[in-house]
Amino acid sequence: MPDESWFAEGARVSILTAEPIGRPLDYLAPEGGCFLGAFVEVPLGPRRVVGVVWGVGDGRFDLAKLRPVARVLDVPPMRDELRSFLLRMGEYTMTSRPAMLRLATRTPGLFEPPGSRRIYRLGSGVPERETEARAKVLKVLHDHGGAGFYLSELAQLAGVTPQVVKGLVKSGAVEEAEQPRDLPFPRLDADLPGKTLSEDQGRAADQLRAGAGAFGVTLLKGVTGSGKTEVYLEAVAECLRQGRQALVLLPEIALSAEFLARVEARFGARPGEWHSGVTQAERRRLWRMAAQGDVQLVVGARSALFLPFRDLGLIVVDEEHDTSYKQEEGVLYNARDMSVLRASFCDAQVVLASATPSLESWANAEAGKYARIDLHSRFGASELPQMHAIDMREEPIESVHWISPTLVGAVLDRISRGEQAMLFLNRRGYAPVTICRACGHQIGCDHCDARMVEHRFLNRLVCHQCGESKPIPAACPACGVEGKLAPVGPGVERLAEEVAERFPKARVAVLSSDLFSTARALKETIAEIAEGAADIIIGTQIVAKGHNFPKLTLVGVIDADLGLQGSDLRAAERTFQLMRQVAGRAGRAERPGVALLQSYQPEHPVIRAILSGDEEAFWKAEAAERRAQGVPPYGRMAGIILSGPELQPLFEIGNELARRTEPLRRVGAQLFGPAPAPIARVRGRHRVRMLVKADKGAPLQAALRAWLRQAKVPNAVRLAIDIDPQSFL
Ligand code: ADP
Ligand code: ZN
Repeated sequence: MPDESWFAEGARVSILTAEPIGRPLDYLAPEGGCFLGAFVEVPLGPRRVVGVVWGVGDGRFDLAKLRPVARVLDVPPMRDELRSFLLRMGEYTMTSRPAMLRLATRTPGLFEPPGSRRIYRLGSGVPERETEARAKVLKVLHDHGGAGFYLSELAQLAGVTPQVVKGLVKSGAVEEAEQPRDLPFPRLDADLPGKTLSEDQGRAADQLRAGAGAFGVTLLKGVTGSGKTEVYLEAVAECLRQGRQALVLLPEIALSAEFLARVEARFGARPGEWHSGVTQAERRRLWRMAAQGDVQLVVGARSALFLPFRDLGLIVVDEEHDTSYKQEEGVLYNARDMSVLRASFCDAQVVLASATPSLESWANAEAGKYARIDLHSRFGASELPQMHAIDMREEPIESVHWISPTLVGAVLDRISRGEQAMLFLNRRGYAPVTICRACGHQIGCDHCDARMVEHRFLNRLVCHQCGESKPIPAACPACGVEGKLAPVGPGVERLAEEVAERFPKARVAVLSSDLFSTARALKETIAEIAEGAADIIIGTQIVAKGHNFPKLTLVGVIDADLGLQGSDLRAAERTFQLMRQVAGRAGRAERPGVALLQSYQPEHPVIRAILSGDEEAFWKAEAAERRAQGVPPYGRMAGIILSGPELQPLFEIGNELARRTEPLRRVGAQLFGPAPAPIARVRGRHRVRMLVKADKGAPLQAALRAWLRQAKVPNAVRLAIDIDPQSFL
C-alpha cells in the first residue's frame, strides 16, 4: 500500500493555492517527491504561485498534460491538524478553500528564501535637513519603538518613496542593517516562581493544570482584577512544561506592553507577538518559528489562530465576550468559536476568560459542555466599585451640557484628593449629527446610508461606515443657507469641551481610537495616564478593555441608555457587559471605586441588573428570553448579505431565493427578507439582507448550500454568508 503522506516524483498530486480558483488543481510531484502538506511553488498560467500539497490528484486531467510542481519551499509542511481545521472551518463558515488558505499564509515575504535581509530602523544621527516626508518616516519608526522594517514596508507605512528612506540613511537618522532571518525566540522558563496565589486562585490554577494536555474548554470567570491572568499564566506554564506551544488571544487593543511585561516577569523572556503593529519581518519570523516549534508562547490578535504551530497545546481567549473576535470583513468568523474548533483537532485545552462572559459561553457552561471556574473576589484589598444610577429626569441640566450636577460634584471630590475620574461615552468625534437649523437637513455620507459625524479635532465630517471625510461646509448642501449648520448631541470631543469648562484646572486626556495614529501611540498614552498624567480621562469603549489605572476611583457613564436603543438581539447583553467592564476600571488598587450611571430609565431591567450586581439573575433572565424566541444560543442563525452597485438586481436575486425555500423548509429553517439592510448603502454599494433561522440541531450549512445553489449571482453582485451573525447592520 502506498504511503499516502508522501508522493514520489511524477505522481499526480492536487495542489491548493490561495488563488480564487475554487478548487485544488492537479500537478505532478517534483523531482525528489513531496510530502502531503508541503508548501510548494507551482506554475499557474504565466505566473508562479504558492500552494500546498492537498492530496492525491483527482485524475480528471490527462496525466501527459499536467505540469510539474516547480519546487518545494523551505518551510515545514502544513500539519494534518491545521489542514483539517481549515477544511472544517471552511465548511462551517461556508468559505472557499483558497480563502481559507489565504488566512493561514497571509504574511508577505513568507516564502522567500532564508538568509538575511536588509532592514531599516531608527539610527542615532540627525537628518541634515527636515522635510515633511522625512518626519513621516521617523514618526513610523518612533511609533514602533526600534523595530526594523523592510524598505518597501517602511516607505508604504510612511506614505513616502523609498528614496526618502535612503536619504535618511545617509545622515544616519535611519540605520541599515542585515538582519539574519528567522532567529528562534528565547526560551521561556515555566519553572520560575510565579506570584503566590490566593486560595481561590490556587484552586482555579490546579483545576486548569488538571485539564492540560487534552481537549476541553473551561470558562474562567472573575471580575476584573480577580487574577484571571495570573491563573491562566499557570495553565500556560503547565503547557510549556509538557513541551507544547501556547497561544493567548487578546482583543487587539488589550495587547499592551503591560501584558508582555507580565509574561516576561513570569517566564523570564518575551513571547512572540502577532498583531497589526508587528512588522512584516517579525511576522515572517514568528510564522516560521511557530512551524518549527521555536516559539513557545504567542500572544496575538485573532488571526494568530491560523499560525502553523508545530504542537499547539493551549489556547487562551482573554475577554472572550469581546465583539472584536468576530471578523466582519472577508472571511466572516468568530475567533473564539474557531479556537474551540482548532483545539479539538490538536488536543489542546481552551480557556475562555472574562469578567462578563458571552451568553453563548455562559450557556455552554450551564449545559455542562464547558467547565466553569469562578474567581470570586478581587485580588488584595481592591473591591468591586459601588454602582449607582443618576436619574437624569431629576437633574437640572443646562442645554448643550451632558454632565449632571451630581456627577460634577463626584468628579470634583475625586480630583481634589489627587485621584482620577473617568467619563465614559461610547461615541467618537464631536457630535454624532450635524443638522441645518434652516431646513432640518442632516448631513449624510455620499457613499453610505449613514449620517456624518463631526470630528472637530480633524475639522472634518467623517463617515463611521466607510471612513470618507469632507470639510464642514459653510452652507447647507440641501437649502444653501449659510451659517445654520449645528452639531447635535455629544461625542467625546464635545464632552471634552464641557469638561474644560467645568473643571478648568484639571488635566484632561481623551482616549478615542481615532485620535491616535498607531496602536503603539495609544498604548503609550494609556501608560502615561496610568502613571497619573491626567486627572480626568474621557473615553470611548477602548477604555473598557483591560487597562489598569490604579489611581482611578470614579467612573461616570454619560449615557447608560445608549446601548439599549438598538433592536439588536444582543443589545441587553452588550450593555450589561460594557457597563460592568467600564465600572470595573474603578478602584483597582487599594482605593475603593464608585461607578455612576447617568440614565433616563433607571428602572429598565438591564440597568437594574447592572446596579444590583446579580449577574446570574441577569443571565438567567436573558437566557429564558432567548430560549423563548428560539434565537442564539438556543437556535441558529445565518445572515445573507447581497451587495452591489445597483439595488434592483439584489432584490431580484433575493426574491428569487425567497420563492425557492424548499431546501430550507426541509430542515425546518425559516427565511426572513429580503429587505434593505439597516445600513442600506456602504461605499456606494447597495445592501440587501436576508436572515435564516433554524433550530439548534438543524444541518444549517447543508441546507444553505442547497438553497443558495439555485441563485445565479452575476459578477457585480457579492453574496456573503454570515454564520452566527453578531451584527445585523
Ligand atoms: P484579571 O485578569 O482578572 O483582570 P489580573 O490577573 O490582571 O486580573 O490581576 C489584577 C492585578 O492583581 C494585577 O496587577 C496582578 O498582578 C495582581 N494580582 C493578582 N493576583 C495576584 C497574586 N496572587 N499575587 C500578587 N498580585 C496579584
Ligand atoms: Zn460613508
